[in-house]
Amino acid sequence: MRIDKIMELKKRDSLLLYKLQLLDLKIFQIESRDIEKNLNEIQFEIKKIEEEVKKLSNDLKEKELEIKNIEGEIADLNKRGDKLKETLSSGKKLSEKELNSIQSEIDKIQNLIKKNEDIIIEIDEFIEKTKEKIKKQREVLDSKKKEGLNEDIKIKEEKKKLEIDKDEYIKKREELIKKIPEELLNFYQININRFGRKIISVVIEDRCSECGMILPYGLISILKNSDKSINCENCGRFLILKKDIDIDF
Ligand SMILES: [Zn+2]
Repeated sequence: MRIDKIMELKKRDSLLLYKLQLLDLKIFQIESRDIEKNLNEIQFEIKKIEEEVKKLSNDLKEKELEIKNIEGEIADLNKRGDKLKETLSSGKKLSEKELNSIQSEIDKIQNLIKKNEDIIIEIDEFIEKTKEKIKKQREVLDSKKKEGLNEDIKIKEEKKKLEIDKDEYIKKREELIKKIPEELLNFYQININRFGRKIISVVIEDRCSECGMILPYGLISILKNSDKSINCENCGRFLILKKDIDIDF
């Protein structure tokens, strides 16, 4: 059985296929539902924050090391300065030129020490800010992790519920297909995916509800006054009147 040209089904057949299509749609919706989407997003955010905390911690270590190095440098400078001061106070006779040179060296050293101390103050400020950032990020991380755990619980409950629903739809489907002639069922299974899982379209206010086409009067008249269900001229789906859905033929 092909569906390319206009063909007919009995209304009874269309109604059976319509019921089957509704169950299949529900099963498909359950199977294709991405219930872990939120959790995946939370986990992605957690990973991002963890990376950020790691980066900040590395920055912190680097800066702490930098301070140690500068402190070492300051200690060396102090030693050099002390030696020069010792020379000055040793009572050794020095020319004015030598005195000036030593004094100028001491001044230079003290300037360097001051510069290094200023750098340490700057780095200390950076370290404090970084520690504060890490603390805040860890707080966000904790709350995200809690959120993730809650979401996990929610997903498990949702999965259970969906499984129950799905089992119910599958049972109903099994009951329903017993009523559908084999040829009709084959026809449905071969063609259903061509029509976006909707092989039967309900006529609502003289339109095919699936493609939106206004149907000619003659066609509506056949649907109303016979037991036939014919194709929509536009999309090819089988048409069934809304009022006929509630009736079991
Ligand atoms: Zn249509």
